[in-house]
Amino acid sequence: EAKRDGRGRFVEFRAALEDDRRRKIGIESALRSALKDRVIKPAFHRQIAIASDRLIGFEALARWTDPDHGMISPMEFIRVAEDTQQIRELTHQMLSHACNAAAGWREHGFHGRVAVNISTSLLVGPLVETVQDVLMLTRCPASALELEFTETAFLNRDDRCRETMIALRNLGIRMTLDDFGLGHAPLGLLQDLPVDSVKIDRSLIRTVDSSAQTRAVATAITELCHALGMQVTAEGVETDRQLAVLGEIGVDAAQGFLYGRPAAYETFINEIRSLRTETNATA
Ligand code: C2E
Ligand code: MG
Ligand code: MG
Ligand code: MG
Repeated sequence: EAKRDGRGRFVEFRAALEDDRRRKIGIESALRSALKDRVIKPAFHRQIAIASDRLIGFEALARWTDPDHGMISPMEFIRVAEDTQQIRELTHQMLSHACNAAAGWREHGFHGRVAVNISTSLLVGPLVETVQDVLMLTRCPASALELEFTETAFLNRDDRCRETMIALRNLGIRMTLDDFGLGHAPLGLLQDLPVDSVKIDRSLIRTVDSSAQTRAVATAITELCHALGMQVTAEGVETDRQLAVLGEIGVDAAQGFLYGRPAAYETFINEIRSLRTETNATA
């Protein structure tokens, strides 16, 4: 009886593995045609300066709806792209879309930044050249571009990672450590990073208004970042109470569903036009 149970579970486990493998292969090939047809597009998510409540920029998040698989989460397809050597092309397309958007918004009077996520594996390779090409082709100034990296980029012992980041930063691009506070990287990592800002991970923001411990951790991160000359953004801000606490702590900027969902480029054109009218009116 017990033996049959065990074997049953094993068979189930194998079947699940097989399903995973099939789905991954399916996504891998769907991704190839999606990149060929350039159907993966960014959705832009607002970033707001907490003290002034002003729009300062957007994060570009990859969005893909496949005819067979439906909408696929970037959590899933970015991983497949990384495992199947398609991440370079995907990032190139995201950079082009994002820089085009930044350049377009500038024509409507908005001079904020657009942030693009960069996988650590791209730090060895021609990333600097790719970024320079995209900036030139889209006529986007380097100062309008922000690049987000995760801690693996900094924990990496490969000197080329650091050199690439320094070269990008020297172009005038804003460099950001994404998802900080997940608990894999020590606070000490923050010293001597070639970055201008740090994003506190959503997992900490979730309880920042309900847990004294979380608030203490967020405060320590913020004070350390400020002492080291870096700015701090909170991601995943969903409520006014969280925002109020973040303001008290001194966090510089906020991003999250409190300010709406990520949306397509065109969605923001009217908003940006009205921002210009506002500043013109008060000028
Ligand atoms: P991330 O860079 O940390 O992006 C933030 C994620 O949190 C986004 O999920 C966003 O929709 C979600 N989010 C933002 N505010 C809130 C909130 O208030 N509440 C909740 N519950 N969620 C919020 P998304 O778009 O599913 O992206 C997931 C991850 O996929 C991103 O995490 C990023 O690591 C990766 N990703 C997305 N686009 C790209 C890309 O072009 N290249 C690379 N390498 N990675 C990307
Ligand atoms: Mg990010
Ligand atoms: Mg993040
Ligand atoms: Mg995160």
